[in-house]
Amino acid sequence: MKLPKSFRLFGKTWSVKKKKLGESGNTCIHRAQVQIDPRDTSPGQVRATLLHEVVHAIEGDLELKMSEKLTSRLSVAMYGWMRDNPDVVKWLMEKESK
Ligand SMILES: [Zn+2]
Repeated sequence: MKLPKSFRLFGKTWSVKKKKLGESGNTCIHRAQVQIDPRDTSPGQVRATLLHEVVHAIEGDLELKMSEKLTSRLSVAMYGWMRDNPDVVKWLMEKESK
């Protein structure tokens, strides 16, 4: 499956790399890089993993010191909400009109 190459966060560009890992994903704050291992998993799980790593990027950059469990729960909740409400997500993404 094709992954996004990058995303923007707090004015910086983060790269997204496909990599063989011992886990489904990893976040490197210093390199501003998210690594995803898409092997042996479903496209939905790869998407959920990317969002999980983005939450790590957010909490790392903001020094929130969130636990792995909290990061997982928050990313699962956000992913589920977005997947269950595509029309609301689309509305959120609309350009603001004057
Ligand atoms: Zn994690």
